[in-house]
Amino acid sequence: MIIKKFLKTAVSFLLLGALLLCCVPLTGCRNGAEKAEINIVATIFPAYDFVRELIDGVPGISVSLLLRPGTESHTYDPSVSDALAISECDLLVYAGGDADIWVEKFIDSGVSGPERSFAIIDAVSERLMIEGEDEEDPHVWTDPNNVILIVNALADRLAAIAGGKSADNAVCGKIRANCVSYVQKLEALDRDIRATADKIPQEKRLLAFGDRYPFRYFCKAYGFTACAVFPGCAEESEPAAADVRRVVDAIRENGLDTVFYVELSSHRIADAIAAETGCATACLNSCHNLSKEEFDAGETYLTLMRRNIEVLSGLAGQPDR
Ligand SMILES: [Zn+2]
Repeated sequence: MIIKKFLKTAVSFLLLGALLLCCVPLTGCRNGAEKAEINIVATIFPAYDFVRELIDGVPGISVSLLLRPGTESHTYDPSVSDALAISECDLLVYAGGDADIWVEKFIDSGVSGPERSFAIIDAVSERLMIEGEDEEDPHVWTDPNNVILIVNALADRLAAIAGGKSADNAVCGKIRANCVSYVQKLEALDRDIRATADKIPQEKRLLAFGDRYPFRYFCKAYGFTACAVFPGCAEESEPAAADVRRVVDAIRENGLDTVFYVELSSHRIADAIAAETGCATACLNSCHNLSKEEFDAGETYLTLMRRNIEVLSGLAGQPDR
């Protein structure tokens, strides 16, 4: 399946490259939008949201989100307009690792060179491996402490670009001030998650996921262990019966009350596990992506992570079954 996915992506990429060569001289700004002095393109929502925080109120810099809200990033096929946006932007901010593997092909081909790209995983030195797979887990942003590392590095890159392109040094100062202010909010988020986690009895700090599992960094940071149907996030949708059974057994053996699913999931597997075990279901949001409604309502990494605190608070107060 991985080979099939790779071939599909490779074929798409070759077609895009050919189309790009035809289209570049004919095309100006993406979607006809007025071009800001400095254009940042982000592939996934966390990357977009971090840049948005750093350039808030900074004139002459814009950021656009490549993957539309609701889009599945792991199996995403870039369009011609995506290729154009990447070829024209000043900086491409992407997850790195297997979260948006197609981006590496653009960078390797020179559509966007390393000097015009920023992989958020590269800002985090302590990477976690996906058990049973020879792969790093790319979902580093689920730990707010990693986000602090990411936005500090990103602020340096943005300030360097702004310093080179803008005659106004106040632009760099504003980016750095935004970074300081955002880091304070991330530190408060970290404290609040930790305070909530500390109230949860040790025996309930096993989180059961009837879904994908993008929370490896979150769980390590806050003292949770996890049992999930899928080891990572880029899996096919049909789980092995043995993997569902493993989660059902963990729920029964540990007297767990809740089986979790992730955002934008059909939660079909979690529902089936809940029916089998009598558990409740709840969504933990990995902030990987959001719905169009959430995007339009102005949800951010901070608001989505704070929703997780409310969900986890429920684990602290439940009586033993
Ligand atoms: Zn993922």
